[in-house]
Amino acid sequence: MKVLIVEDEKRLAEAVAQNLRRQNFDTDVSFDGEEGLYNALTGVYDVILLDIMLPKKDGLSVLSELRADGVATPVILLTALGEVEDRVRGLDKGADDYLPKPFKTEELVARIKAVTRRRGAFHTDDLLAFGDIGLNPLSLVLTRGDKSFTLTQKESHLLEYLIENEGIRLSADTIIEKIWGYDSDAEDGNVQAYMSFLRKKLAALGSGVRIGNVRGSGYMLEYGAPE
Ligand code: CA
Repeated sequence: MKVLIVEDEKRLAEAVAQNLRRQNFDTDVSFDGEEGLYNALTGVYDVILLDIMLPKKDGLSVLSELRADGVATPVILLTALGEVEDRVRGLDKGADDYLPKPFKTEELVARIKAVTRRRGAFHTDDLLAFGDIGLNPLSLVLTRGDKSFTLTQKESHLLEYLIENEGIRLSADTIIEKIWGYDSDAEDGNVQAYMSFLRKKLAALGSGVRIGNVRGSGYMLEYGAPE
């Protein structure tokens, strides 16, 4: 679950990012509207937290441009006191929710879950299932029958992404953009390394789930009953 935080109050932005990371969210932060829009337009985020009063480009303009560009990522406006009219205008322009500052992390997480669940993008309370395995994306626990492993955050995000895209071949580039971030230095080798970690854990569980990548055509989960 990738969250983009667009907020120019650096201490607030960093505190929010840190609190969300503790809850296993992946976070990126932009401190002005222009950079925020640029990042948001990549479409790799599951949710965007958007301040209204921002340098370079205000939050409502960022939101309008995003929606005009067809980016449907859920947006939660972070609003200050006295921005009641802005909240209303924001909801009109396609924001999914707003949260008055200051707010508690639990409240923020609840709103994130609510807006992403509406879009069908979030599964925190559900076990994701494929073949004979189950993955809990919050606790990072991968199970098969009565055996289980705790994955690293990156492994869990990667497996979650593969499960969500069941039946679709995902190129290394797509996976890097989604899991590592569009501005990361990750390369095919990083993807291969993580796929190999996951394959080892699947094998150690005796799972019939395999990560296929026939002739480098892209990664996809496959399932055949274990031998
Ligand atoms: Ca601000």
